[in-house]
Amino acid sequence: GSLLAAEGLSKAYGPTPALDGADFSVHPGEVVAVMGPSGSGKSTLLHCLAGIVAPDRGTVRYGPHTLTGLTDAQRSALRRTDFGFVFQFGQLVPELTCLENVALPLRLNGTRRKDAERQARDWLEQLEVEGAAGQRPGEISGGQGQRVAVARALATRPRVIFADEPTGALDSLNGERVLTLLTNAARDTNAAVVLVTHEARVAAYSDREIVVRDGRVKDMAGRI
Ligand code: ADP
Ligand code: ADP
Repeated sequence: GSLLAAEGLSKAYGPTPALDGADFSVHPGEVVAVMGPSGSGKSTLLHCLAGIVAPDRGTVRYGPHTLTGLTDAQRSALRRTDFGFVFQFGQLVPELTCLENVALPLRLNGTRRKDAERQARDWLEQLEVEGAAGQRPGEISGGQGQRVAVARALATRPRVIFADEPTGALDSLNGERVLTLLTNAARDTNAAVVLVTHEARVAAYSDREIVVRDGRVKDMAGRI
């Protein structure tokens, strides 16, 4: 069955709804690309699925949980243990080294410092950016920062990885490498990936594509 499923999600910030009855589901180990033009509701969908934004209507089910029925504290706890996030901007803590950034979610989940740092170093190696371990985010390139952010998202072995334009600001070679590492790691760990993008080149790394238009979800297969 599906790991994460939403039904009839609606959300309005103003007179025009950002989401208008959106449905969604993803299976363990499946990479779903969420496509659509700017302003169509992709990010709002992702934020509702992740329990960051409360929909006005509709439900989000994650395994046995109904996210919309949990308290804020329960949702935060679930996010910390089960979800990983890769966003385009402002995702690394500037005061911490890259190693500390990757170790941070492990520390928050109760992993001891030594273990957290060892695991963080392994993830930096997997993402081919171990050279940045001792540096701060401001001292490395955008491409390296993106790799560190992916390492951090994977470190807790999340069941669902939410990626919003994860390679948006990158040249294509580095972007492709990061996408390969991200989707391979997800498939290896049977994690689901919700990959928001407006680029077909990025969506090509997914198993399935959906399109958001005017706050509604269309299956690519249904459009052809
Ligand atoms: P993207 O399209 O890259 O996902 P964002 O999700 O950051 O970009 O923003 C999409 C649109 O939503 C933009 O037009 C932005 O101005 C608007 N927006 C985002 N957050 C807010 C906010 N807190 N208040 C008002 N408008 C916002
Ligand atoms: P996309 O990710 O496809 O670019 P968004 O979900 O960011 O689309 O935005 C959908 C619509 O909702 C847009 O019209 C956007 O301006 C609006 N919107 C998104 N987030 C906010 C917000 N926090 N406050 C006000 N309006 C928002």
